Amino acid sequence: MKTPDSKRDGQPLAPPTTTGDMSAEEFRRHGHALIDWISDYFTDIESRPVLAQVKPRELIAQLPPAPPATGEPMDAILADVDELILPALTHWNHPSFFAYFATSTSAPGIFGELLSAAFDVKALLWRTAPAAAELEEVVLSWLRQMLGLPESFAGVIYDTASVSSLHAIAAARENLNLDIREQGLSGRADLPLLRVYASEQAHSSIDKAVIALGLGQRSLRKIPADAEFRMDADALALAVAEDKRAGLLPFCVVATVGTTSTTSIDPVGAIADICEQHKLWLHVDAAYAGSAGIVPELRPLVMNNCERADSLTLNPHKWLFTPFDLSVLYCRRIEVLHRAFSLVPEYLRTPAAETGSVRNGADYGVQLGRRFRSLKFWMILRYFGHDGLAARIREHCRLATLFASWVADSPDWELLAPVPLSVVCFRARTFKDGETDDERAARLDALNERIMHAANSTGSLFISHTRLHDKFTLRLAVGNIRTTEEHVRRAWELLNETSQTNL
Ligand code: PLP
Repeated sequence: MKTPDSKRDGQPLAPPTTTGDMSAEEFRRHGHALIDWISDYFTDIESRPVLAQVKPRELIAQLPPAPPATGEPMDAILADVDELILPALTHWNHPSFFAYFATSTSAPGIFGELLSAAFDVKALLWRTAPAAAELEEVVLSWLRQMLGLPESFAGVIYDTASVSSLHAIAAARENLNLDIREQGLSGRADLPLLRVYASEQAHSSIDKAVIALGLGQRSLRKIPADAEFRMDADALALAVAEDKRAGLLPFCVVATVGTTSTTSIDPVGAIADICEQHKLWLHVDAAYAGSAGIVPELRPLVMNNCERADSLTLNPHKWLFTPFDLSVLYCRRIEVLHRAFSLVPEYLRTPAAETGSVRNGADYGVQLGRRFRSLKFWMILRYFGHDGLAARIREHCRLATLFASWVADSPDWELLAPVPLSVVCFRARTFKDGETDDERAARLDALNERIMHAANSTGSLFISHTRLHDKFTLRLAVGNIRTTEEHVRRAWELLNETSQTNL
C-alpha cells in the first residue's frame, strides 16, 4: 500500500522497523501448537508424578545464569518447557492431587486467562476497562445470588483470600472512625490496643493481616475451639468482655467457615450475636467452603447466618474451577471499604459523568492496576452454569464421605475430625502390646509421617497433613475437577499398601 510519505526526494524510505513481537502468522502457528500441547498435557497428566520429584535447586542448575543477549526461537523456548519446566512441576491438575485444598483449573477458565492476557487491561478506573469494571459487578451479583446472600452485599475481586481478609480488617478499622487513615496508629497516646478475634483454627492470613495493617500480632486474640475445631462462642463473649474491662478496644471478629485443617465451621449465628451486642465488625473467612454455598442442600450448613456478616470472603480459585487467582470479598457496606481506600490523585481524576454511577476498582483496595479476572469467572459461570458447578462440588463431598466411610470401617485407621465437606482427616492406628500412651503417640506420629512421605514419593498421589489434638493427621482433600471415585479408591488402596510396608 502506498502512503503519502512513502517516498521522499524520490528515494524509498527504509522499511519500518518491526515491533520485535511475533507476526500474526507466527502467533497463530505457535498458538495452535500450544493449545494442542495443553490438550495433550491434560490427556496424559496421569502419567506424570503428582508431586514434583526434583531436588531443591535442580531447575536453577539447568538454566543459564545470565539472560540471553539475543532473542531465541519460540520452538526452543517451548521445548524447554517440556524438558525442564514440566518435571519441576507439582501437578495441581492431576486428579490424584489430594493435598492442602485440592483445586484445579477448567477449560473455560484457561480460555478466560488467555483472553485476559491478550487484552492486558489494567482495570483501575472504569474508563481504563469498562468491560472489566462492569463484568466484575455482573459476575459478583450472579455469585451472590447463587450463594443466597442479600442484595446489600456488594463484592470486589482480589487475588487471594489473604488479601481479601486484609482489606476486610482494614474496612473494620476504618469503621471505628478513629481517623486512623490520616493519623495512623503509631505515636498515638489516645488509642488503646485494638483487638481482633479469631479462632485458634483460623488461617495464618489473619495473623498476617494484623501485621500488615500495623495492628501488631498482639492485637489478635485467638479464641479456643471446641472438640470439633469450631470457635467456642462463649469463650469469645468472655474474651470481649474481659478486654473491654481492661480498657482495650475490640473491633473485629473473624469467623471461619471451613477451617484450613479440618473444614470445621464456626458458629456464625452465635458469633454474630456477640458482634451485634458489642458493635464489632464480623468478617467471615469462607475461602474454601464458601463455594459449597452454591449447592442448595449445603447452603444451610455453610451460609447459615452469613447474611449477618459485615464482610465475607470466598475463593473461586479454590473450589469453583477457576485458575489461580481469583478471590471475592463481599461487604454489606461497601462504602466503608471505599472510604478506607479511595484516593484520587489529579492524574486519575475522571469526568463527573463517570463518577457515581460506575465503579473504579482502584477505590476499593491497595492496588491501582487490577487484572481482568472477572472474564475467566464469567466464562466459567456460563460454561458450567449454576447446576453444573453445584454438581461437581456435591460429587466431591460424596467422594470424601465415601473415603471417610472406608476409614471408619477399618480397624487399622481412624477419623480424627468430622467430615462436613470434602476433606478427610485421618490416621493409621496400630496396636503394640506393652506400650505406654506416650510411646504409642510417638510411634503413631512417626508411622503416619512415614506413610505420607512414602505414598507421596510413589508419585501416584499427593496428600498433606496437619496436627489435630496433638496427633500427626493425614488429610485427603477432594476438590479437583478430574477426580473420580476410581482415583479416591486407588488412593485408599495405596495408603493401605504403604501402611503395611511402613509398620
Ligand atoms: N483462609 C482459609 C480458611 C484458607 O484455608 C486459606 C488457604 O488455604 C486462606 C484463607 C488463604 O487463601 P489464599 O491462598 O487465597 O490467600
